Amino acid sequence: TLLLTACLPREEAAVEKPLPEPPPVKSAEEIKIGFSMDTLKEERWTKDLELFKEAAEQHGAEVVLEIADGDDVKQVWQTEKMISEGIDVLVVVPHNAESMAAIVERAHDAGIKVLSYDRLVRNAEVDLYVSYDNEQVGILQAQAMTKLVPKGKYVYLGGAETDYNAHLIKQGVFSVLKPYIESGEITVVFNQWTKDWLPQYAKENMEAALQANNDDIDAVIAGNDATAGGAIDALQANGLAGKIPVAGQDADLLGVRRIVEGTQTVTMYKSIDDLSQKAVELAIKLAIGEEIQEDLKINNGKINVPSVLLSPVLVDESTIRETVIADGFHLEKEVYAP
Ligand code: BGC
Repeated sequence: TLLLTACLPREEAAVEKPLPEPPPVKSAEEIKIGFSMDTLKEERWTKDLELFKEAAEQHGAEVVLEIADGDDVKQVWQTEKMISEGIDVLVVVPHNAESMAAIVERAHDAGIKVLSYDRLVRNAEVDLYVSYDNEQVGILQAQAMTKLVPKGKYVYLGGAETDYNAHLIKQGVFSVLKPYIESGEITVVFNQWTKDWLPQYAKENMEAALQANNDDIDAVIAGNDATAGGAIDALQANGLAGKIPVAGQDADLLGVRRIVEGTQTVTMYKSIDDLSQKAVELAIKLAIGEEIQEDLKINNGKINVPSVLLSPVLVDESTIRETVIADGFHLEKEVYAP
């Protein structure tokens, strides 16, 4: 009887109806997003993780997470594993901009698109780049500092050389400093990268800069708040904290608190909520094969990568409330805690 029912002519008639449009490969609810992070060391990345997961959940998508702890080899095998175990799209924060190029190819071979999150993978056919405008971070830092210190000796403590963001930020900083340097008003007396953005190296570099210049430094621009913190530790040890303006970025709680106490001058606020929401939304589009139209293209050494760049916001003592606190990035009581 079963066989007979299955062969009933009425069933066949139904099949002859015009076929509906084929559904998209998957709906957002079935998407698995592979999220490969470099590190959770800086405060911001724990926010990225939490908010990214939250945004994915809102779309009903699943996140498969791996954290490489600053290890290139580990990041490569972790992402390889994700690809082979089945993800629909790969979102990657590369520790090393160049090393992750191979993974982009591997993902493509498996039919998986790749979104570069916050940091650009270099020399690979990255499908999309979602970040803050890093050059603008550097421009805002240097504009704020040159306004305060239009003449004098500058120390530049860049980020990690392996992170392309560090290069973009530096480009922004020096585009502003250039005319001052050319006119001789500003001299950059120390200019170094900071391995892995680690505060202890920034501290060592700041100590070296102070020694080489007999403490005669007028301004410090640091790659982020972690490195600014390292520099400020060195200044503190030399009785100079609060006497020399220091710029950072990320609006880390410690950075913002240092602005309140007067040892750091400015930071850059980048809403992680906006970044993660945008990235998740676009990652899902990539996964379900929707076309993404982004006019902005950033060259990564191989192709012009379609890009979305959000705008960083300068934070100084007078704008803490209207920026990070108003946005709920930090609580007022945390910032102004004794
Ligand atoms: C990010 C910064 C962060 C730094 C260190 C950069 O790529 O843009 O926000 O502070 O990495 O993790």
